[in-house]
Amino acid sequence: MQKSATNDDKTYKITADTPNCCGYGLCASVCPEIYKLDEDGLVYLATDTVSGELVASAIEGAASCPAEVLQVTLID
Ligand code: SF4
Repeated sequence: MQKSATNDDKTYKITADTPNCCGYGLCASVCPEIYKLDEDGLVYLATDTVSGELVASAIEGAASCPAEVLQVTLID
């Protein structure tokens, strides 16, 4: 099967190494649909998978984290 050149038809898994979250909140400002902050200002995930139009924003949000807490990886 031919692979698409876009990310839109793929599903990605999102993981958060929450104990290392420092509460900067950059992830939630970049992609508030997925990255949420609890009452202590620490990240939690609205979902642990992402596909379609939110993929780019999820990846950008993970990349914005200075503590490298968030990983977005392709599910085979
Ligand atoms: S950007 Fe990183 S350190 Fe900041 S709230 Fe998000 S996951 Fe936590």
